[in-house]
Amino acid sequence: MNNDARAAILAISLVIPISILILWYSENNNVTGFSEKRQFKVLASFYPLYEFTKIIGGEKIDVSIIIPPGIEPHDWEPTIQDLQKMQNSDMVVINGAGLEPWTTKLVSANPDILIVDTSNGIPLLEKNKQIFNNQIQNDPHVWLDPILAKKQIQNIANGLINIDPQNTDYYQENAERYNAKLNLLDNKIRNELSICMKKDFLAFHDAFSYFAREYSLNQNTIIGINPSEEPTAVTLQQIIQKARNLDLHIIFTEEAVNPRISEVVANEIGGKVLTLSPIEIYEKNSDYIKRMEKNLSNLKEELCS
Ligand SMILES: [Zn+2]
Repeated sequence: MNNDARAAILAISLVIPISILILWYSENNNVTGFSEKRQFKVLASFYPLYEFTKIIGGEKIDVSIIIPPGIEPHDWEPTIQDLQKMQNSDMVVINGAGLEPWTTKLVSANPDILIVDTSNGIPLLEKNKQIFNNQIQNDPHVWLDPILAKKQIQNIANGLINIDPQNTDYYQENAERYNAKLNLLDNKIRNELSICMKKDFLAFHDAFSYFAREYSLNQNTIIGINPSEEPTAVTLQQIIQKARNLDLHIIFTEEAVNPRISEVVANEIGGKVLTLSPIEIYEKNSDYIKRMEKNLSNLKEELCS
């Protein structure tokens, strides 16, 4: 058999099954083409961005989370499979501000990939230089300030409008509806904290700088920017002394860390341990707003006592 004949047989054997498939698909779905059914594949780096993207994109997108839901994002590194998954998506949503240093790998593998940096346009705070050997790095925890989260929401909406301009109104309305909820959350935090006399609180890791600045509070922390750090015995003694000096009663912990360190401090000062969530991992039957409200109610135990 010559090459032409072989190519012809191959073409026929491919075309026939594909034609049958298209016919079957059209009959069963009653659509004229595939485009109407197309959902944009979007990947969001970690939990709150996944929730935000899902709310704004609704049924128009198929969104998945990149960092596994129970893993805190500070130390996470993607596998080759993770990077491939990202390259096959229509859009990747990241927090930015240095939380996802792995995006450089993604961009060098595929310079055309569409990455939406949700911290774009947000003036960033620097991390504590003492902890980080004088290297200037930004504090990534913008999502814990509802006013800055609104900016992240708008950046996600803009990204979706960019890949799917036909549905501009849909994305914009979803973003505005959710941002109205964030305004209510902001009012609630502002009103409820306004009657509290105290300003200082002791968080576990350095996640609440933007939040503290927004609501005129003073954040103190047990450890630095990364929750997987361990404080030294000397640091722990200094923290206990600080808690006494500031007359603190609540020592905060987080979902993804061992509460033992917070318990040690709490025992020393005769206080108790509560959770102040940095909302970095998924929690079943909850969402961003519920968790921010829970944070508010736990914070009030310290600030209004
Ligand atoms: Zn953090």
